[in-house]
Amino acid sequence: MSATGDRYNRHHILSVIGKDGQERISRSKVLIIGCGALGTHSAEYLARGGIGELRLVDRDFVDWSNLQRQIGFTEDDVRSGRPKALALKDHLEKANSSIRIVAEPTEFQFFNAAKLARDVDLIIDASDNFPTRFLINDLSWKLGVPWIYGGAIETRGHALFLSGREGPCLRCYMDEPPAAGILQTCDTVGVLGPAVAMVSSIQASMAIRSLTGDEPDLFCGRLFRLDSWKMEWKESRIETDPDCPVCIHQRFKFLEGKGQLSSESLCGREAIQVHPKSSNDIDLQALAGRLESVGEVECHSRYLRLTSANFTMTLFDDQRAIFDGLTDASKARSLYSRYVGD
Ligand SMILES: [Zn+2]
Repeated sequence: MSATGDRYNRHHILSVIGKDGQERISRSKVLIIGCGALGTHSAEYLARGGIGELRLVDRDFVDWSNLQRQIGFTEDDVRSGRPKALALKDHLEKANSSIRIVAEPTEFQFFNAAKLARDVDLIIDASDNFPTRFLINDLSWKLGVPWIYGGAIETRGHALFLSGREGPCLRCYMDEPPAAGILQTCDTVGVLGPAVAMVSSIQASMAIRSLTGDEPDLFCGRLFRLDSWKMEWKESRIETDPDCPVCIHQRFKFLEGKGQLSSESLCGREAIQVHPKSSNDIDLQALAGRLESVGEVECHSRYLRLTSANFTMTLFDDQRAIFDGLTDASKARSLYSRYVGD
């Protein structure tokens, strides 16, 4: 049996990384936004590759429809309704106990974005929506930290590295997020597991190369697109918009909270998410005691779950709640006010 010191041997002997490169990797901190298909694959490679600290952010919990492509999650995670960030952290710690993994079962929003990204060297977009990506883009340029945009749908995917320091940025490519409801989603047209794995492999490769300091300019601003069914690979270069509000004029409207909703329905299932008005933490134990008369209450370290005849409310310690079994947002907000407060 070899010693744990051999863990990174295949990086040490790899000419493009070596011991110096591995040393840089081990001092790096990476924020992964979204622990779905893209996030679980990227996190798997980065954790096993020895990134010093991985911060995992996800607002949702594990569902049966995730298991087809989201590696690291198990049927037990679905049965116990575990938040994805916590389930992924547990899984990754079994693969590499020598790095720091921080789980944040919360939604990445304008008011917590800077806190979640504090001191990170790189941000990986593994989200499933454009408002989040525009927020990441603002944050990246505000902090001067690179980020890697990624997406996959059906059998297609794309990835794009943006430096956070010199253009182009996402706003050079796309002025505003596409209007709600006009884009296809994985919930309506499906997605092939290996297509996602290919996109996250590109994201993870870009991440590792840039963290070793090996000329990330090589791929900065190049949009890579693939189709894992047709076996097609294309790329194009994004040009810097000389009047770009973000990378030229340093105006960060998404980071200022413009366009944020206080509640929304969660795509593909009967559920409403309600956002708090502030990011203050809440005493879950005390609240669990108060909710015992309403229904069955389970209290965990970072969330509590209230199950009543008509809905299930999962409340996280950042005061965000998901109401399963509801489709009416105003009803969800009113239940939130009633049981959690304003
Ligand atoms: Zn720009």
